[in-house]
Amino acid sequence: MHGVSEQELELSTVTVVQHHRLREDLAVIRLEGEFVPFAAGQSVGVIVPQNPNVGRRYSPALPPSLDGKLEFHVRAVPAGWLSRAIVTDTVVGDEWQVAAPSGRLVVDRDAREVIMVAGGTGLAPLRAIILDLTRRPNPPQVFLFIGGRNPRDLYASDMLWLLDEQLDWLTVIPVVEEVTDPVWPDQWYDRVRGAVGYGADHYIQGTLAEVVSSYGAYIDHQVLVVGSPAMVRSTVRALVDSGTPAGAIQVG
Ligand SMILES: Cc1cc2nc3c(=O)[nH]c(=O)nc-3n(C[C@H](O)[C@H](O)[C@H](O)COP(=O)(O)OP(=O)(O)OC[C@H]3O[C@@H](n4cnc5c(N)ncnc54)[C@H](O)[C@@H]3O)c2cc1C
Repeated sequence: MHGVSEQELELSTVTVVQHHRLREDLAVIRLEGEFVPFAAGQSVGVIVPQNPNVGRRYSPALPPSLDGKLEFHVRAVPAGWLSRAIVTDTVVGDEWQVAAPSGRLVVDRDAREVIMVAGGTGLAPLRAIILDLTRRPNPPQVFLFIGGRNPRDLYASDMLWLLDEQLDWLTVIPVVEEVTDPVWPDQWYDRVRGAVGYGADHYIQGTLAEVVSSYGAYIDHQVLVVGSPAMVRSTVRALVDSGTPAGAIQVG
């Protein structure tokens, strides 16, 4: 099973209860079933009925729930074996096998300020951590940078807008490389365009690496960076170059 080791194969069965297509290449999938033991911020190994011989890792976007609720954000990668099938073919009632977790993204109990940097579906584990922090009596100040090539890539803009309004310790900073969307249509995006969420006045233009590091060194912060390997590499390099201690940075 690609990306999942043998000892992790203690499988829980969960059933798809909602398949929410948010973009041509992205779906949010909600499931319910057996309790899956993991910590917010970890990824789990997943086997889906579209190809039971191939496993992939995905990061739950909700903290663990005793009633077995799970949510995944899956982006179809070009030429991907499985991710496109998950995005396009998942139906309510599908049974997924979910294996034990791995990864360690942690916000310390005594953290006062946390910088979170999410490229694309890197948002999922950070969103799980943010929801987990709501259970703390004194959550730290959290600055969440979410990035994409253009506004259309910020698939969770509406949900983050609402969270930002409700949680006085959370600030969301939407970052886009281009402020205009591609000319080719996306019927799923076009349905919700203009609904609640970030608009042209809110975006900071640049790459995540450029924008996050432009605020100078994060000396007394914990910094969590999650996204594609290229985005993580460039962001960590820019952070360290601008003075943030490497030891303060966790990657996912
Ligand atoms: C710890 C961890 C957590 C993850 N969490 C998530 C998550 O929450 N949501 C999510 O959508 N994905 C997540 N992924 C990625 C996921 O596991 C798959 O790799 C991804 O869905 C592609 O699978 P595939 O079978 O479609 O592509 P594959 O058949 O594995 O790959 C096809 C081609 O696409 C390239 N490729 C693979 N991944 C990417 C990518 N991300 N960007 C660009 N090219 C790529 C490969 O190099 C290859 O050339 C995570 C990966 C890891 C390691």
